[in-house]
Amino acid sequence: MPIIDTHCHYNLEPLYSGDPFCFNIKEGDEVLQMKWQDHWQNAQQNGVAKSIIVGPGLKSSQKAIEIAATDENLFASVGIHPERANKIIDIDQAIQELEKMATNKKVVAIGETGLDYFYLKADEGNEIEIIKLRQKELFIGQIKLANKLNLPLILHVRDHDDGAYLETLDLIEKHWQFENALIFHCVSGPIAYIEKALALKKSYFGFDGNITFKKSDSIREIFAMVQKADSKKILLETDAPYLAPEPHRGRICQPMMISETANYLEKNLSANLTEIYQNSLDAFKL
Ligand SMILES: [Zn+2]
Repeated sequence: MPIIDTHCHYNLEPLYSGDPFCFNIKEGDEVLQMKWQDHWQNAQQNGVAKSIIVGPGLKSSQKAIEIAATDENLFASVGIHPERANKIIDIDQAIQELEKMATNKKVVAIGETGLDYFYLKADEGNEIEIIKLRQKELFIGQIKLANKLNLPLILHVRDHDDGAYLETLDLIEKHWQFENALIFHCVSGPIAYIEKALALKKSYFGFDGNITFKKSDSIREIFAMVQKADSKKILLETDAPYLAPEPHRGRICQPMMISETANYLEKNLSANLTEIYQNSLDAFKL
């Protein structure tokens, strides 16, 4: 069964050129001998029919477009990850740059964007509130951009408690037009949040390799909830180079590993891969 990887980072190291970048891996590791073209080829040999390359920043969004231009089965999403909020000097200008990029025909979505309070530490004091405000401003800018360009929106939300999840829903309800798909990428969060997200028009839920981890009962529970409520809302992603599925946990996630996550979902959670393929085409209008 063909697979669509709806969230992959061929545009990030070490997938892009084999540079270990921030990963703690041995210089001789075979994954570093490969470039994005090799990873794409391996992914295709493992059943990946199409892939969406997601930009967490301006430069990586540009790279996503350049990669997508090389193959009719590769697409790009342009956006700025919430963790970059503090590095963006002029948010309005950054949104304008995203808008220019999004005119490219291979751009099928805006994101990844959202709120991520996971690594905000108490010792940052007053800084935390400023960072949260900047994240919100950057998020609202991208919600409005997706509305304006009539594109789906890819959400990245993460927190230790309900905070970022509830604030995300609040901002979505205030600013999003619900004309296009709203993708809860690498979905996590409290049950009440998932229930509300499920009730939203055109919401979709992306599941990644971390659903195979022993301690991921909460993600498997979310999967079961989505499956029961509306299995047409399920999407499959790698988030490569992050979140390698078992038994590769802790290593670089290679895009081809999505076939292992797909097998796991089919065997253990009765996922319908044919339907998931169709869901991906529908969500991103591919
Ligand atoms: Zn991502």
